[in-house]
Amino acid sequence: MSFIHLKGNSEAIRVGKIVCIGRNYLDHIRELGNAIPDEAILFIKPATSIIHAGELIRIPQNSSDCHHEVELAVLIGKEARDLSVDEAMEHVEGYGVAIDLTLRDVQQRCKEKGLPWEIAKGFDTACPLSEFVPASEITDPQRLELRMEVNGVLRQNGSTKQMLRSIPEVIAEMSRTFTLEPGDIILTGTPAGVSAITSGDLLHGSIQGVGELNVSVA
Ligand code: ZN
Repeated sequence: MSFIHLKGNSEAIRVGKIVCIGRNYLDHIRELGNAIPDEAILFIKPATSIIHAGELIRIPQNSSDCHHEVELAVLIGKEARDLSVDEAMEHVEGYGVAIDLTLRDVQQRCKEKGLPWEIAKGFDTACPLSEFVPASEITDPQRLELRMEVNGVLRQNGSTKQMLRSIPEVIAEMSRTFTLEPGDIILTGTPAGVSAITSGDLLHGSIQGVGELNVSVA
C-alpha cells in the first residue's frame, strides 16, 4: 500500500490510483515532435510506483533512456464522477510536486508497435511525490512556477499557466472516464526540458509555494 502526507494531517492518506495527462504543455509537445492531441491523452500509474523524498529511483534493465518530467500533482479529496469544469475544483484537497518518470525508449518502442506503454510509466519507483499542502494554501494553482534541477543544473523551468487544458478541465475530463476517489492523485503534465537521468544523479523538483522533492538514482 502506498501513502502520502498532507501538511497538517497527522494520518497518512492512502493513494488509490494516479491518473495522468500527457502532452499538456505546448513547448514539451514540440520538443518531442509530437502532435497536439484533439482528445486528452490519459494514462494511469499504479500507486505502487510511488516513492518519497530521499528514496531511490531504480531504472529498469530494459531502458537506457529514463526521463524526468516535473509536474504539479493534485490530491483528490472527494469522489468525482462525470464532473463539469465548474464543479471540478471543489474536489481538490491539496497539491504536491511529482516526477513522472518515463522510459522514453521503451515508450517509443511500444508506440511504434501500437502497444500500451504502461511499462514505460508505471514501473516501481516511477512516481516520486513530495508532501502535499492543503488546497487552501494555494491562491492560484494555475500560476505556479515548476522547476527541475539535476545535479544542480536547471533542466525544466515552466509555469502551470502554460497548460493547454487547465486543472479543472483536466479533472473534469478524467472524471468522465475514471471515477476519482479520495486519495487519488492527478498529474497535470510537464513543461519542456525533459531529459535523461542516470545512476548517481540527484533530482531536485520544486513548485513555488507547494514544495520540493529530492530523490536520487540508484
Ligand atoms: Zn508526464
